[in-house]
Amino acid sequence: MERTLDYVKKQDKRDELSSFRDRFYLPKIKGKEAVYFTGNSLGLQPKSAESFLKQELEDWAKYGVEGHFEARRPWYAYHEFFSEHLAYIVGAKSKEVVAMGSLTANLHSLMVSFYRPNGNRNMILCEKKAFPSDTYALQAQATLHGLDPKQVIFEMEPAKGSEIITEDAIIEKIFELGDRLAMVMIGGVNYYTGQAFDMAAITDAAHKVGASCGFDLAHAIGNIELKLHEWQVDFAAWCTYKYLNSGPGSVGGLFVHSNHLKKKLPILAGWWGHDKEKRFLMEPEFMPMQSAEAWQMSNAPVFNMAIHLASLEIFREATMGRLLAKSWRLTDYLAFIVEEVASATGADLEIITPPEHHRRGCQLSIVAHGYGKRLFDSITEAGVIADWREPNVIRVAPVPLYNSFLDVYRFGEILQKSLKA
Ligand SMILES: *Cc1c(COP(=O)(O)O)cnc(C)c1O
Repeated sequence: MERTLDYVKKQDKRDELSSFRDRFYLPKIKGKEAVYFTGNSLGLQPKSAESFLKQELEDWAKYGVEGHFEARRPWYAYHEFFSEHLAYIVGAKSKEVVAMGSLTANLHSLMVSFYRPNGNRNMILCEKKAFPSDTYALQAQATLHGLDPKQVIFEMEPAKGSEIITEDAIIEKIFELGDRLAMVMIGGVNYYTGQAFDMAAITDAAHKVGASCGFDLAHAIGNIELKLHEWQVDFAAWCTYKYLNSGPGSVGGLFVHSNHLKKKLPILAGWWGHDKEKRFLMEPEFMPMQSAEAWQMSNAPVFNMAIHLASLEIFREATMGRLLAKSWRLTDYLAFIVEEVASATGADLEIITPPEHHRRGCQLSIVAHGYGKRLFDSITEAGVIADWREPNVIRVAPVPLYNSFLDVYRFGEILQKSLKA
């Protein structure tokens, strides 16, 4: 690897996915295309989003309520257009996934089904420094069962002197909690450190002690390889406005393993989860679909789902294999550039994200020791859109769909200038 314009231009030329950048709108800072490294927080708008949305607006204008059946993509079955796409991205069977709801709401709904405390088996294992929404949701679930969150929630801490929670430590804790453990619920990729967990190993350990195991995939979906079915994960939920580029607050999604689809799990039922052959008979007794669709409460929010569909079609075209291969190269190059900048300036820049490809996605979390938020503000001013987390972490995510090697190079130049200033 080299830190030269020549080198990055060559890499971008060789990149099979480079043309996908043109299919997104890139924000500008002071009239110049920004270095947009915040796809982990809000992915960019696909240019195709507008026509997908327009189609539904047109069909609504043209058909009114008849659009449920007459629309080019009939609304009564709208969520069905997502199953294959989502199954592909999370490594599932199409009946195991559904586009619906929002992330935190979906987690709650899944925990109603999968967190079933019973006598001494009431504990939840999660990560310390989880995303706050997840922490609140777990606490609320414990409270709903009349339990004290402080007593039943065990938060795994990172190893001493590190930000990383090792799988060995998690697995050891799972066996230690043993038959007191009811559920493991952690992020597939930690939002703060960018660490990707070995979901197969964690799930396996949870099952060995008789606990259920689920993951929040907010930072994992569209970012790392997922094989939820093969890994025997019980349940998972995600949002679609981060790596999936489906727009602010857009529809979420969930996964339930086929092992559970025939069981009579408690479900927060609604009419859209009812057997679709009988949905419009308006019968008094809930008859769940034999698929993840059983968790659907309401009919599909078609407008934001239209944009989600536009985005999923781009993923299908790019393919996960090519995206992952580029992601590794691009983020390796970013790590190299950060090191180069550190040695050129003498700044103490620590990357807390694990370096191994299977232990991270495209995000790197950088601690600039001795520099505060001023450094972050200064790189923003100079054209980088990144993300700041207290106390001193800068999170940068070069997204393989639309970021380039030139973006990484420009980031290095701007960071270096700001460190020197
Ligand atoms: C982004 C994110 C959320 C956001 O939840 P919403 O319900 O979509 O607002 C929750 N958890 C994690 C881990 C996240 O990264």
